Order: sequence, then structure tokens, then C-alpha cells
Amino acid sequence: RISTPKKFEPAEDALERALRPKSLSDYIGQEKIKEQLGIFIQASRNRNETLDHVLLFGPPGLGKTTLAHIISREMGVNLRQTSGPVLEKPGDLAALLTNLEAHDVLFIDEIHRMSPIIEEVLYPALEDFQLDIMIGEGPSARSIKIDLPPFTLIGATTRAGMLTNPLRDRFGIISRLEFYTNDELAIIVKRSAQLLNMQIDSQGAFEIASRSRGTPRIANRLLRRVRDFADIKSNGVVSKEVADAALKMLDVDNLGLDIMDRKLLDAIVNKFDGGPVGLDNLSATIGESTDTIEDVIEPYLMQTGLLQRTPRGRIATKTSVEHLELLEKVWN
Ligand code: ADP
Repeated sequence: RISTPKKFEPAEDALERALRPKSLSDYIGQEKIKEQLGIFIQASRNRNETLDHVLLFGPPGLGKTTLAHIISREMGVNLRQTSGPVLEKPGDLAALLTNLEAHDVLFIDEIHRMSPIIEEVLYPALEDFQLDIMIGEGPSARSIKIDLPPFTLIGATTRAGMLTNPLRDRFGIISRLEFYTNDELAIIVKRSAQLLNMQIDSQGAFEIASRSRGTPRIANRLLRRVRDFADIKSNGVVSKEVADAALKMLDVDNLGLDIMDRKLLDAIVNKFDGGPVGLDNLSATIGESTDTIEDVIEPYLMQTGLLQRTPRGRIATKTSVEHLELLEKVWN
């Protein structure tokens, strides 16, 4: 599945890192966030202070990790990276925190999946740059306080709603990343093509952009697949025709929906009569976890008006019924 987040072959992973923009000026789109962060970063640097804690939220592949790296680079500090589910024991977090230098960035991906015990250790660290840890067990156990260097926590999450209130309250800067426009994605595709030494014309870039579900990670991934196709089936140049033929072969339709997107819409329309249908029911029917449905599949479908979430369940819109009917005619 093309839009599955963060699961790569090692080679793909390396390629993705190579395509990452390294400065705010190379980071396409998200203008409001860039402007705000630019000001906060400059102000902190001028005062030689630590940047406030930053929470980035939005669907996978929109550039949260990239932005965290850019922030640390623009602040001129180191970044240490971990993720919510990886931090099992308080000691795991303590080891990371005590190794930071003043003003460094600690980046915690999937911060909504951090355990409550770790959160407890994190609070005083965020607020007073102090660690409270227990050493020993039984009657001889005692708590010690360790001073930490001032640091910036950057948390990334696909769901701000799943963060506890006390944790959310400790972020001074909260930014929501939006899906990208086709024009922005076309710029990203052209930039990536250049880095990959590929030839692509403007219509080719726009074709890939408009079928990338508003998501840079998908745009880059489709570009690489289209490159393979162009190398083998044509003269290596990615035109609109080549892009279109390649994307069709990859089962990406004219709206950029892939097999899982269509499977979900098809289930609602044809198995549940257009809905409303509950999340668990939908999950069992299409064989995807509820997390993937909520984090990866649904945000874009809602954004494009193909799906609605209501208190009674998911509903397919008239547009999605028409889209499926059209595909049936064109593809079969
Ligand atoms: P997230 O952490 O939100 O899942 P990433 O930061 O890993 O997303 O971004 C995925 C890929 O998309 C990156 O490798 C990068 O090449 C590309 N990307 C993301 N945002 C941008 C952007 N604003 N401009 C250019 N490329 C981007």
C-alpha cells in the first residue's frame, strides 16, 4: 500500500532522508507555521534562550519530522530522536534527558503513545528542567532530583485529541500541519526530481502532485515509482502521459486514492448502504486497524469531501458514490 506510513525498505528510507529539506526556506508550503516558527527561532537565538516546547500535529507524511530537524538546525543545536512507544521505562527517558546539552532538541514522535509513567517523569523535566527519580527499592528507596540542561521538546502526533490535557498544556507552541495544495506538491516533486537526477516536465510533476493525497511523502514515493516506469517503458523523461500510465498501473486513481481508500469507500457504499457505519464494524470489514483508518485513510477522504464522520458513524457522500461509479466505467 502506497500510503502506509513509516514502514520502509532501508533503501527507501535512505532516499526519503536524502530528499528532506534542510532549512525553513527549502521547506515548501505551511506558510503560517514557517512564519511563526521563523520568528520564535530568531527571538530565542537573539536572547540566547531555549526555544519553547513545540507540538506538531497532523496526518503522517506531512513533514513533522522534517520540521523538527529544521528547527534544531536553525537553532544551531543537536537533535535527539525517540518515539512514544519506544520509551518503556523512566530510565529510558532519563538516559536521553541527562545526555542533552543546553538548548538541544528532544524529538518524540508519536508522543500520544507514550505511557502514563513516562509522562509523569516528563512533566517536571518540561517545566523546571528537573528529573525526579526513585532509586533503590523497599524501605531504602529514595527519590533524588537531578538538574537538567534547558532543552526544547518537540512532540509529533497524528492526533492532538489523544494527548492528555496536562501534557498538551506544557507546549508553548502548537502547530497543526495542513494537507498541501497541488501547486505546492508540484514544487516538491520538481525539487525531488532534481535531487534524483530525473527529467520531468511541468505537466508530469503536476500529474504526480495532484494524485498524492496532499502529502509530500506520497508525492516522493510516487515519483520514484514513476521513475522506474519511465526508465523501462519510455525514454526516461516523466511527462503527463508517462505519469498517468504509471500511476494507473500502481492503482492510484485520478483523485489520488489508492486501493485501501477505495476499499473503505466501497465498503460504506456497497456493504452498508452509504452508512452510517461504526469504526469497528468498518475495520472488521476491510481488514485494517482502527488506528490506520483514523490516522492514515480518513483525514484525506474527509478533506476532499468523500467521507463524513458523524456521531452515528461514517457516511459516504454523493461525491464518493459518483467517483466509484465513474471508476467502474473507466477502469473495468
Ligand atoms: P511526518 O513526520 O509528518 O510523517 P516527514 O517529515 O517524515 O513526515 O516527511 C516525509 C517526507 O516528505 C520527507 O522525507 C520529505 O522529503 C518530504 N517533505 C515533508 N514536508 C515537506 C516540505 N514542506 N517540503 C518538501 N518536502 C517535504
